[in-house]
Amino acid sequence: AGSMDAGDFAAWIRRTAERVSADAERLTRLDAAIGDGDHGLNLDRGFRAAVEALPGDVPPGAVLIAAGRAIVSKTGGASGPLYGTALRRAGKAFGDAADVDAAALGSALRAALQGVQDLGKAVEGDKTMVDALAPAVAAYEAALADGSGLAGCARAAAEAAAKGADGTVPMRARKGRASYLGERSEGHLDPGASSTALVLRALADVAGS
Ligand code: ADP
Ligand code: MG
Ligand code: MG
Repeated sequence: AGSMDAGDFAAWIRRTAERVSADAERLTRLDAAIGDGDHGLNLDRGFRAAVEALPGDVPPGAVLIAAGRAIVSKTGGASGPLYGTALRRAGKAFGDAADVDAAALGSALRAALQGVQDLGKAVEGDKTMVDALAPAVAAYEAALADGSGLAGCARAAAEAAAKGADGTVPMRARKGRASYLGERSEGHLDPGASSTALVLRALADVAGS
């Protein structure tokens, strides 16, 4: 598809909820190693709430803002406000456009990353969701500059997010609960980076169908 409409964005949220639910145990296990063992539970609850909050008959921006708001209000932990902010910033970037093309989606992903960093103050290398999201946005923009369409850009973003998440294993956490462990956080996959890769995989699923 060359563009996405409100139905496609609702499908993205539903697809993400499915993927998060299927992987909730794995995410929680990752968080048990370097955090408090609730990441899968937090996100499962948050994205279920987002699906329930999906409004009908509104533009893409309003879909993402509603989903983000539901996640902020229903998700405990650090990740709820961060994911909620990301979705709300992306939704705001769309304004009231009825269709979102590849360039507009790229701008929204950039805005989402900025929102996460404004709130959480993490930079790349801190072993957080930023280590998946930042390379995903960069890869999306590079694919766009190379002339890829929306589906190709989304696929590039998903691949970069997965690679970025894997890259968190050797890192020492400098933000969030895992940072309390200091060097003992090394050698573990960051749960939030791993869930961010799922969210972008879900976007590529929807964009490519
Ligand atoms: P909590 O740590 O409060 O229990 P979660 O377990 O749901 O929250 O989420 C943990 C994830 O949140 C981490 O794996 C990390 O990726 C992400 N995270 C934590 N703090 C930050 C931050 N300041 N910036 C970006 N991401 C963060
Ligand atoms: Mg946790
Ligand atoms: Mg917690």
